[in-house]
Amino acid sequence: MEQLRIPGPTPIPDNVRQAMSRQMINHRGPEFAKIINRATENLKTLFQTKNDVFLLTGSGTGGLEAAVVNVMSPGDKVLSVSHGVFGERFATIARTFGAEIIPLWSEWGTAPDPEEVRRTLQANSDIKTVLVTHNETSTGVTCDLESISKVVKEAGRLLLVDAISSLGSINLPVDEWKCDVVITGSQKGWMIPPGMTMISVSEEAWKAYANAAMPRVYWDFNRAKSYLEKGQTPWTPAVSLIFALDVSLQMMLEEGLENIVARHTRVAEKTREGIKSLGLPLFADEKFASNTVTSVKTSNGLDTRKLLKILREEYKIILGGGQQKLDGVIFRIGHLGWVNEADIERVINALKEALPKAGFSAV
Ligand SMILES: *Cc1c(COP(=O)(O)O)cnc(C)c1O
Repeated sequence: MEQLRIPGPTPIPDNVRQAMSRQMINHRGPEFAKIINRATENLKTLFQTKNDVFLLTGSGTGGLEAAVVNVMSPGDKVLSVSHGVFGERFATIARTFGAEIIPLWSEWGTAPDPEEVRRTLQANSDIKTVLVTHNETSTGVTCDLESISKVVKEAGRLLLVDAISSLGSINLPVDEWKCDVVITGSQKGWMIPPGMTMISVSEEAWKAYANAAMPRVYWDFNRAKSYLEKGQTPWTPAVSLIFALDVSLQMMLEEGLENIVARHTRVAEKTREGIKSLGLPLFADEKFASNTVTSVKTSNGLDTRKLLKILREEYKIILGGGQQKLDGVIFRIGHLGWVNEADIERVINALKEALPKAGFSAV
């Protein structure tokens, strides 16, 4: 069987796949209400929040757009704390809807500095909102969100967090860290296919909503809230994915959030050790190396595109390449969701054989 080790979509357990083959039900009926209410409550547990949580049909990027259009007005000054492709995407969405972006963009592979965030907020008292990518999937870096959130909330600004590839895999206590809007995506750590985005909304975010003038219909939080009170969604949701999520969330709660986070930590450490043992350099600053995706830098003649092709064709292992300017510079191993140490062992063993065939000569 092919081993999919990209940072999303991620593999799906058999019982979750079976849940998706169910016959359709009425999305405005009592059975659906029961399922969505249960899934929403379970999501709140895993988000570690008492805030509203909405299940919206759309990809993660849709969730980022939902966050932007519900709390901002055209002309708002927004600080973009970015360290890669997805941070820039978040900023692009806000700019497209009329926000004025103040970029605080750090070098890819490094993590943003909370002190710089503090200085920028002090120098710009008119910044209303801050965008942060918790886990930058394009570089394999997890930022120090706890410190950044402290700085942002002490300054009294609104904090929007792209946690698409971290929530449910890496610890992110939404309430303790006072994150106002937090977005995740179904195909990352949640063990279900692409197509859903899950999003939490704080009281502060609702206050911002009351004055936010960006245009919105499909993503409107208030519609989501009023329909959820009836156990429904405003528009027809991806019913099969909600069947899947209901099962995967129960699996996650059975394992326990602490155990899930610990498993991702162990698997990531095993990945990094394995890569280093092969003589390959890690791309991400190791103090901030992600526990859901490991980025590996090319070196010693390695052709990363050729490597990915050999792994796919000869070993049935699918790894990720680099995005944008990192294409050909790094490759990425996804280890989030349904993953254990044995999966990583298989990847490292295959790499050991494939690396010389892709031009790599260990020193
Ligand atoms: C995957 C990902 C996205 C984009 O999600 P889509 O579902 O592809 O729209 C955004 N941000 C981060 C950090 C991601 O990992």
